[in-house]
Amino acid sequence: MLSGVIGTEIAPAPQLFCRMPKVQRTQVGIVGAGPAGLVLSHLLYLHGIESVVLENRARQYVEERVRAGVLEQNTVDLLTAMGVGERMKREGLVHYGIELRFNGQGHRIDFHELTGGKGITIYAQAEVLKDLNNARIAAGCQVLFEVEDVSVHKLDGPQPKILYRKDGDEYELCCDFIAGCDGFHGICRPSIPAGVLTEYDRLYPFGWLGILAEAPPSAEELIYAYHERGFALLSMRTPHISRLYVQCRPDEEIDHWNDEKIWHELRTRLASTNGWKLTEGPVLQKGVTGMRSFVVEPMQYGRLYLAGDSAHIVPPTGAKGLNLAVTDVQILARGFDEYYSEGRHDLLDRYSEICLRRVWKVQRFSWWMTSMLHRFPDENPFDHRRQLAELDYVTSSHAAARTLAENYVGLPLE
Ligand SMILES: Cc1cc2nc3c(=O)[nH]c(=O)nc-3n(C[C@H](O)[C@H](O)[C@H](O)COP(=O)(O)OP(=O)(O)OC[C@H]3O[C@@H](n4cnc5c(N)ncnc54)[C@H](O)[C@@H]3O)c2cc1C
Repeated sequence: MLSGVIGTEIAPAPQLFCRMPKVQRTQVGIVGAGPAGLVLSHLLYLHGIESVVLENRARQYVEERVRAGVLEQNTVDLLTAMGVGERMKREGLVHYGIELRFNGQGHRIDFHELTGGKGITIYAQAEVLKDLNNARIAAGCQVLFEVEDVSVHKLDGPQPKILYRKDGDEYELCCDFIAGCDGFHGICRPSIPAGVLTEYDRLYPFGWLGILAEAPPSAEELIYAYHERGFALLSMRTPHISRLYVQCRPDEEIDHWNDEKIWHELRTRLASTNGWKLTEGPVLQKGVTGMRSFVVEPMQYGRLYLAGDSAHIVPPTGAKGLNLAVTDVQILARGFDEYYSEGRHDLLDRYSEICLRRVWKVQRFSWWMTSMLHRFPDENPFDHRRQLAELDYVTSSHAAARTLAENYVGLPLE
């Protein structure tokens, strides 16, 4: 059943006590309007479950933030089934392979052949969010931007609450459940009492300096390059916009990199012996991203469920962050649906266990891609030779290439 999804105000604040929060009620309170929060909210709507999404940034900021761009087949299929895939189908670029480039030579990993016809779609995270926001708002649902001082309470009781401020007024949102979809720096994970969560963390001794350039992509598919001077990646967002990265120091000052220096480094690291040329153009945006692997266990506490980057971070080499966020909430939405339609909480109880099994496989893949393709500051000549041997093996063994391909297009949802 489809229904409108509006948080219900059940007790307006008495005029004389204007500091009392206005009390509202919903079934699922969602903190964060990134991919995890918005996909969850829309999935719940399709199951007839109420939600309110609270986001501390402005809508425009969220929709312009340059982030992921590679969608797994599962993500594409889900967005399509949710009715928000129309523009993605029209404008997204479907790829059936990637190139691994080393020693100046390119080697294609053919996803289509290796995975029985699967591929990936290039469609920017910002565009996914625009489509989701439009769908949420068209359905009359509550996605509240620019809320302040969000905090979560009574997580281990039957009715958790979210407190927040909006336009100077204070609100108390009473929920059956809270979904912490507020990213790595959000407030939900730190609100879980000390000692409950175990953190697994790995920081990498390098970062990615990324640019968005007004230049048609110089290749039809992504190129992952391993070079003496470090990793480089050629990616794209549209037929006119390239997205390019070079490995850099984790604390690199972006101001030390003028555009010519970036293009020079990209030309050098992506160079090929076959006369291939990098297309250049005005740099529209640039920034440095740190690289980290991070997981918390469990991903739930009482009636709070963590999803996406609030529970785990992967280095971007495997293009998995957004996709993992989407799979988490796909599982969570099934759990809520089971609870509201059948009164059972088996899936909700096993949410963390089900997600983590997949999360760790994706962590492994992202770590492996990162380790194979980057230069490490403390590496010795043995490591360098081993990395080249690994790349040679992956691009010459059908079994090894298939392993990469099936992980890259996305492992099945169990
Ligand atoms: C520069 C960069 C490049 C990336 N490239 C890729 C890529 O190529 N492929 C890939 O798959 N992934 C990539 N990722 C990762 C991907 O973008 C994230 O994994 C994805 O955004 C996770 O979605 P999420 O909804 O869990 O978290 P987020 O997208 O971080 O969303 C969390 C939301 O919560 C909001 N929020 C935070 N705190 C609060 C609060 N206190 N109150 C209310 N709201 C709050 C935030 O403003 C944000 O909108 C990249 C990430 C970055 C930073």
